[in-house]
Amino acid sequence: MSFFISGKCGICKKHKGYRLCLRIGKDICWQDCNDMRVDRRCPEECAYAVVESENLQLKTKADSMLEYTELLKKQIDRWIALPQVVFNGDIPKDIVQTEAGKKRIIEFLNNFQINSLVPLTYLKDKLSLNDLKVNDHKENYEDISRNFINFIISREWERSVELQKDSSKYEDQDFRMNYLKRISENYIFKKTNEFFLVSSALSQDKKRALVHLELNGKYDLTIVLDEIDGSWFIALKVFGKPEIVNSEIQANQQIAVLLSKNKLSDAFELLKKYSTIYVDSSDINYYWGMYYMFSNNTKKAREFLLNSVELDPDFLEAKGLYATVLLQEKEIEKAKRLYQEVIEQNPKEIKSLNNLASIYIEEGNKSEAKKLLEECLKIDPNFEYAKKNLEKL
Ligand SMILES: [Zn+2]
Repeated sequence: MSFFISGKCGICKKHKGYRLCLRIGKDICWQDCNDMRVDRRCPEECAYAVVESENLQLKTKADSMLEYTELLKKQIDRWIALPQVVFNGDIPKDIVQTEAGKKRIIEFLNNFQINSLVPLTYLKDKLSLNDLKVNDHKENYEDISRNFINFIISREWERSVELQKDSSKYEDQDFRMNYLKRISENYIFKKTNEFFLVSSALSQDKKRALVHLELNGKYDLTIVLDEIDGSWFIALKVFGKPEIVNSEIQANQQIAVLLSKNKLSDAFELLKKYSTIYVDSSDINYYWGMYYMFSNNTKKAREFLLNSVELDPDFLEAKGLYATVLLQEKEIEKAKRLYQEVIEQNPKEIKSLNNLASIYIEEGNKSEAKKLLEECLKIDPNFEYAKKNLEKL
């Protein structure tokens, strides 16, 4: 029914149209849908039609909490301007002209449990109900996503750090600088100056949420958030619609296969394609690192492996490989520290045990080296590199 090939909203022509409006026969955005449906004249076949209800809650379909709350604001505007049965036909905005009237409305509101999505502050301001108690709003996953994008728009990259999951890792200055570099140099974020929250969804266990945003009226961004102790944090961002979030696994598999077959130019094409979408994938950054190792470009390999380790400090393969690159770049102390971290996290990681032993041999620390190599051969008696190193000693 839609003739808008551009996919834009048939009313505002600004946002994308995600739902077909049965009243005008065009795809429209939720803002324009709210403007129309609040009059309750939508055909009941439409899932977004508003079903009449007595109190300040509405039965209807909404794709996000924001959409529902904004619709309720429109409902509140209507509610305060029309005669209400609960007030014997009096009009709320007339009632509040006296202090007694204000009391009457507050008493009414205190009488029933109000859903936390009802914008009571809006009602309070509209009717100057200064004595109305409104519970503090606890930031939900949509709020956190909107805060994040607002920091992007105001280029306050630093302030976005604390919204990230496991942000304590950014006490490490290398990680922090790298995060800020990644985010401030992202070619879409650099030019983002407006956004529209399209929809959001919650996982069944309510521990993970996806928030779909539209940036500058054309770029799709899905923010994935995790709930930890009652608060929401950004786990990762995907430049695409929510339905492609889980496809990262397939992308990784395709790249891994190409790299293992040494098909470097094919791997390059896929890496280029997927790394603009899965910007926070530690795997894809790791594969870039491998790709540049195979191409003997240590400088580039180093960049991507740092990304990978920053994104997932528990990704030991990436950490081990990053240490190896640092070793090649003669950054011995940093490499040593990373190998030690890998061994701490996995004491049976023989490659790191052996590489650390090699550093100790170079440094003339024979007893430490010997200890590590013997440990290596205890785990795998046939590990050739360790055997050779032990012979050297
Ligand atoms: Zn619109």
